[in-house]
Amino acid sequence: MTATPLAKDDLPADWDQGDPETLGAEHASRLAELEAGGSGWAGFYERAARGLAAAPDLAALKERHTRLLGRERGIVTGRLATLGDLTAAERKTTGRALNLIKRWLTELEGERRGALERALEARSASGFDVTLPGRRPWIGHRHVLGQIQDELLDLFHGLGYSVYSSPEVEEEAYNFAKLNFPPDHPARDAHDTYWVEGGHLLRTHTSPGWVRAMEELRPPLKLVFPGRVYRAEQVDASHMDQFHQIDGLCVDRDVSMADLKGTLNMFARSILGREVKTRLIPIYFPFVEPGAQLDVACAICDGTGRITEGATAGRCPVCKGAGWSELLGAGMVHPHVLRAVGYDPEQVTGFAFGMGLERIAMARHGIPEIRLFLENDLRFLEQF
Ligand SMILES: [Zn+2]
Repeated sequence: MTATPLAKDDLPADWDQGDPETLGAEHASRLAELEAGGSGWAGFYERAARGLAAAPDLAALKERHTRLLGRERGIVTGRLATLGDLTAAERKTTGRALNLIKRWLTELEGERRGALERALEARSASGFDVTLPGRRPWIGHRHVLGQIQDELLDLFHGLGYSVYSSPEVEEEAYNFAKLNFPPDHPARDAHDTYWVEGGHLLRTHTSPGWVRAMEELRPPLKLVFPGRVYRAEQVDASHMDQFHQIDGLCVDRDVSMADLKGTLNMFARSILGREVKTRLIPIYFPFVEPGAQLDVACAICDGTGRITEGATAGRCPVCKGAGWSELLGAGMVHPHVLRAVGYDPEQVTGFAFGMGLERIAMARHGIPEIRLFLENDLRFLEQF
């Protein structure tokens, strides 16, 4: 066995890469000590020390340590095991050098391992930074129809109206007969009404609430009736088979058409803006006499009845070319309806009105499609 020391080149050249600062203050004196001993191991130690002190991570450190000081195949370990083969003089010099090298490398390995572990801990601890802002939770909001309903109820509350709720599954008498619908009225047809077993139906308007309220309470009455209604409609851009209405009812002595008109105008302006164009035209509803319809200029085509989309122009799909959209129906409560609930039409009169929430939302926001309200498409709903 030879006493020829291992050289720098017995270790990979890339072990030299790294910061010599991490070798510590003693490094230079250790090299000097090895050189002064005349062992010839200084070059080997230099690279070995750098390799451990600058190991990039724990895996590299372990691999380098094993290569140097591993119990089975470590090259320093191997040399130490063969010291006995050397002459006494060689054994003294080489043995001293190897033992120093083993002690110092073991020290360096321990220091480097500690540093790498601390860095790892610091990195994983920094994964939770208490100074960073939190992730904002996704917060929903009221459906556009819910918002409009709240706004309308607020408005009517300010005018002295209270909310009255009535069933969605209604008796035929309340939906039709007591509201003065003649027995052969087409609304009673299965084409227009969803009938339920036992002669019940899904209410086609919120007006049955008037009858229930008037049967229960005595005038003066100022009530609003919000709710969902159903009609067996052909679904298109402006018709759905379920939608939302709010009816209003005011019954007292000396209530006149002028009171109705004043209320409707105030309502239209507060909902659609002071500039909104309206018109009141006569129309027939069985439960009012006279009956009227409040129209507003169509918000989609601005009253022209036509739309231009890119190069193509055509009939406005919402007002069907009319230029006007029906906002609500209204009128003076029919004497037959007052009699049906036991009121005396000679003593009290009343006005009533009813509107679709979808229609108001469409006029307000320029929404072209009534179906959008029920499709639950967030891209639509998030806009309101
Ligand atoms: Zn239009």
